[in-house]
Amino acid sequence: MAISESLQAVKLRIAAACVAAGRAPDAVRLLTVSKTFPAEAVREAFAAGACAFGENYVQEGLAKVDALADLRDQIEWHLIGPLQSNKTRPVAEAFDWVHSVDRLKVAQRLSEQRPAALAPLNICLQINVSGEATKSGLAVADVAALAHQVAALPRLKLRGLMAVPEPGPGALAQHQAMAALFRALQGDGLALDTLSLGMSADLEDAVQAGSTMVRVGSAIFGAR
Ligand SMILES: *Cc1c(COP(=O)(O)O)cnc(C)c1O
Repeated sequence: MAISESLQAVKLRIAAACVAAGRAPDAVRLLTVSKTFPAEAVREAFAAGACAFGENYVQEGLAKVDALADLRDQIEWHLIGPLQSNKTRPVAEAFDWVHSVDRLKVAQRLSEQRPAALAPLNICLQINVSGEATKSGLAVADVAALAHQVAALPRLKLRGLMAVPEPGPGALAQHQAMAALFRALQGDGLALDTLSLGMSADLEDAVQAGSTMVRVGSAIFGAR
């Protein structure tokens, strides 16, 4: 299937999931995950109407931001993969969003290194909602404290939470737990607007639970 067709099919899935959940059809943004696919595939998806792209690996993402410099004003670049504190500077300089912050040190460095000429860097805190030992992200119990610390950093804008629930019978409950945590932080006075939840295989569960941004790669670009 051409990228334009699979992109359209994913948009229809999102819209149908919104209707099924009684949510407005535009309540959920699509982040097109382009990791491992070349800059030319991103260009094709952009021409078909995608304008926000997610990358997992810092070097690969930076190379694509460069290769698509002519579209820089029209594309939002999101880092969704793990970020080590010694790699923060180029990320602070080149990306619009980071979804994978799970430590204060990384957030502090991103804030210090965000160029003054750019808008504040948009941040989501990554939560290890399944509790799997091998997965990155904060424990649920530690989220509120870090959220308040990150919200106070001057060159960052805390937008919300991100998670990768474990596939299987417990998945919907994990999506719902993330939505509950998101609402609790909003109730705690944090002005959050982004729940980054749902991928190719589970976007319907995520939308049902309350996701506001699904991150979809293989359903658009094909298998990696
Ligand atoms: C790869 C990846 C995605 C997209 O996954 P697909 O199954 O290809 O849709 C979303 N989020 C994160 C954090 C990823 O690493």
